[in-house]
Amino acid sequence: MQYRTFDRIGVPVSTLGYGTMRLPVIGGVDANIDEAEAIRLIRKAIDNGVNYVDTAYMYHGGHSEEVFGKALLDCYRERTYLATKMPTWLARNHEGKLEGVFRDQLRKLETDRVDFYLLHNQTKRIWEITNELGGLAWLDEKRKNGQIRWAGFSFHDDLHTFKKIIDAYDWDFCQIQLNFMDAHYQAGLEGLEYAGKKGIPVVIMEPLKGGRLARNIPAGVQALWDNAKAKRSAAEWGLRWVANRPEVMTILSGMNAESQIDENIRVLSDAAPNSLSAEEVALVDKAGAIYNGLIKASCTACKYCMPCPQRIVIPDMMDIYNEWHIFHDDNSRAAYGRTPEHQRPSVCVGCRQCEEKCPQHLPIADIMQELVQIFE
Ligand code: SF4
Ligand code: SF4
Repeated sequence: MQYRTFDRIGVPVSTLGYGTMRLPVIGGVDANIDEAEAIRLIRKAIDNGVNYVDTAYMYHGGHSEEVFGKALLDCYRERTYLATKMPTWLARNHEGKLEGVFRDQLRKLETDRVDFYLLHNQTKRIWEITNELGGLAWLDEKRKNGQIRWAGFSFHDDLHTFKKIIDAYDWDFCQIQLNFMDAHYQAGLEGLEYAGKKGIPVVIMEPLKGGRLARNIPAGVQALWDNAKAKRSAAEWGLRWVANRPEVMTILSGMNAESQIDENIRVLSDAAPNSLSAEEVALVDKAGAIYNGLIKASCTACKYCMPCPQRIVIPDMMDIYNEWHIFHDDNSRAAYGRTPEHQRPSVCVGCRQCEEKCPQHLPIADIMQELVQIFE
């Protein structure tokens, strides 16, 4: 495993981080984590050198931190840097506000300290709530009393908002979404460089866009990979493109199978900063341009839009929508057909609750209508 050390952090952090937004579940129910398997996978990654493990208060219906706490027993806690996140928009309605949520987290995680602590999903609107609650002064206090070692934020909004938040506090680190398709989306490469110039290390989420850049690869992109001098899988190209950036501290991968852990460890064991040639970077950029020309809705399967009051599984519908626009094949029609009628986009009432929560700002209700027109 490769490790990167930044002045602000002062300890080596593994280039591969374990994200727990997509732990294995039982019966397809997000809140029903397959605990034994999840713990086995997390520990396997740690045994193989991963030392950055990332969770959040709201992942898997609030159960991720609990499972994580159990995974880090038996001396695994001492071998890892634990990251979790404060959902300030939920803390506003918690009787104990920020402190109440934090206390819940420490209890679930079975620890008295969080190493990397992030204000979760900061957007224009959520940043206002964070300030309303005195989030920055609270972080100061937590850093001072040692309950938080390093303070950061995770981000989903435009570049202007990113710069504003970066400039607002003495952050130890931050977390952004970055992959070769989203190089100029949200904070993007410009945001990455902005943080880098201030010496703020960056944690990367969605390096393969929720796995979408590694499967159902369009012919034009596959031809690029096939004709490249180095023989690498799509996932490997995607991860290496992110790891190539020296501003990146760790790359989060939501690994839910042993094969993914093995593959990611293999790739990131020698993916040093600036290790890709200019030609290789240009090749991956070209793949990004092809994707951007094909994919209509930049959904990352983050599930923030859920639950839908009509029980539509929105990320699955987004998958069908994008795959239809890339391939126009029968697979997407078949996937739509397999969706129970009472959960199809035709039951959408256009309430747009989902859109308020979507960090990608997707016009979900309009997309539901388009799906109805395409498939019904
Ligand atoms: S707009 Fe449609 S998809 Fe979105 S929450 Fe409302 S019913 Fe569900
Ligand atoms: S529609 Fe938006 S909120 Fe829902 S999964 Fe996709 S990106 Fe996330």
